[in-house]
Amino acid sequence: MAQDAKRPPDDAEVVAARRALLETIAQEIRWTGTGDGTHELDPKVREAIAKVPRERFVPPDLAAYAHDNRPLPIGHGQTISQPLIVAVMTHLLRLEPSSRVLEVGTGSGYQTAILAELAAEVVTVEVVEALAADARARLQAMGYRNIAFRIGDGAAGCTEGAPFDAILVAAAAPSIPPALLDQLRPGGRLVIPLGRDPLSQELVLVEKDAAGKSRERSLFPVAFVPLRRERPDSP
Ligand code: SAH
Repeated sequence: MAQDAKRPPDDAEVVAARRALLETIAQEIRWTGTGDGTHELDPKVREAIAKVPRERFVPPDLAAYAHDNRPLPIGHGQTISQPLIVAVMTHLLRLEPSSRVLEVGTGSGYQTAILAELAAEVVTVEVVEALAADARARLQAMGYRNIAFRIGDGAAGCTEGAPFDAILVAAAAPSIPPALLDQLRPGGRLVIPLGRDPLSQELVLVEKDAAGKSRERSLFPVAFVPLRRERPDSP
């Protein structure tokens, strides 16, 4: 019914949809693992996904699909990442309540919120000014106070606030931007999709040891939008 379609989903429906999404994610991870030998999602990541309302990060006309395990368009040729990938990338960072995190590619801000639930501080960099502005307004209205927003080319990272305990890159690069490696603290972890083919990249986990030496591991194939290398814009 048209009337029903307009009705905002009630809380119980949203909670049930989010619980079903979490089950799908947990099931996938039980089958395929997270790439680092684990087949169980970190319970803290589970809690964060259960808590953050993904429906508030997608365009209103797509709210009915907010709890499907798939990426969705958010405008400007960009997408909100697939929930499973958000969960796995966050899991791989092994965040502590004291962690300081750099995120490249704010997009809708959904991944940013998940990081902000688990870490002490998140610095997030977005190249599309309009997306950054929307994400900032949304996350501030939701009460997040531990996120710093930056507009610019995230391949340069954010020298102010570096080094970071963890770095998450949400767009694919041909190789690891050297500035990001420099800004990773010894003992820290970085996840990034690497590859030039828009339909097939590898998710790579970089671990920097206490002596500052980095080890890279290719985990599994992913498909992300490319990391843009031009100057910031405001289409
Ligand atoms: N994780 C986010 C967005 C993923 S899409 C979400 O789930 O909503 C990747 C984002 O990276 C897009 O918003 C895109 O504009 C941004 N991006 C692309 N190149 C970038 C760059 N060089 N620096 C910062 N952000 C970039």
